[in-house]
Amino acid sequence: MKKYKSIIKYPLLLAVIFLVASCGEKQDQNVSKPLYELTPNFRIPKFDSDNAYKQVKAQVDFGPRNPGSRGHYEELLYLERELKKYADTVQVQEFNYSGYDNEQLKLTNVIAKYNPSAKNRIILCAHWDTRPRSDQDPDKSKRNLPILGANDGASGVGVLLEIARVLKNQKVNYGIDLVFFDGEDYGKEKDLDNYFLGSKYYSANYKNPNLPAFGILLDLVGDKDASFTEEGYSLNYARDVVNMVWGIASQINANMFKPKEGPTISDDHLPMNQAGLKTIDIIDAELVGAETPVKRRKYWHTQGDTMENIGKNALQQVGDVITHLIYTLKFNS
Ligand code: ZN
Repeated sequence: MKKYKSIIKYPLLLAVIFLVASCGEKQDQNVSKPLYELTPNFRIPKFDSDNAYKQVKAQVDFGPRNPGSRGHYEELLYLERELKKYADTVQVQEFNYSGYDNEQLKLTNVIAKYNPSAKNRIILCAHWDTRPRSDQDPDKSKRNLPILGANDGASGVGVLLEIARVLKNQKVNYGIDLVFFDGEDYGKEKDLDNYFLGSKYYSANYKNPNLPAFGILLDLVGDKDASFTEEGYSLNYARDVVNMVWGIASQINANMFKPKEGPTISDDHLPMNQAGLKTIDIIDAELVGAETPVKRRKYWHTQGDTMENIGKNALQQVGDVITHLIYTLKFNS
């Protein structure tokens, strides 16, 4: 009898203590819970680099896509058509820009939204225009020609178009905006005022009172022997996001992601960060300025930026990291 009594009493006491303790813990958690975290998910869909590769090639097949060109016009139609298959809404954000020698440019950002009214959002972005000149080409007679931009333009878009398809087939419960910037590569060397035209316009006109939790920019992500070091501005503005992304890469053995600080690159993420849209850049930084020691890889801003340099492995690794992030990301409120 005594024994029986104590058994009843003891768990009751424990239950009371537990209740108090767990309430306190809950309150503490509410205070300290992060906005979002990564949680295990055993149903991560497959990112298909064959599709991504085809999407890169489809763009390159339009020819150069510098503003005002036929390829630019055709790719815009293509992007809208593809994204309407996959996203909940597709918006085009058109604007005019007065360029060099008073050239009047018609530029368009394309924005594909998933869960457009969700408060918690992330941005995934890339530039879809290509450079109107090959100013780094070793052959001086070719420096006025527009580039094909298989890597510089088409690769990031190709990965995002495949992500768009994946998102259609397996929904998430927060908002994702896929943003395709125009006019990234219009500027002459070192004239940053005439670069990043689309991302500047997008950032200045960002109307949603709910800022994205973070953004990820993809640029030069398709080279056969790609190497993604941690980019300087990304570390300055969004070190936690860099750590999260490179952490995922290490977890899933995406070995083109190098967990070390690399060069600082001005890119579309810079105007975004300056406008308060926290964004990192996944970029094969040693291509920029032909810093790479590998001869084949010295094609940035030349006529050599063609499909021959594109490898499915890089598209797969970047796609896997982004897919993994998307489907393990959980918002806490
Ligand atoms: Zn470029």
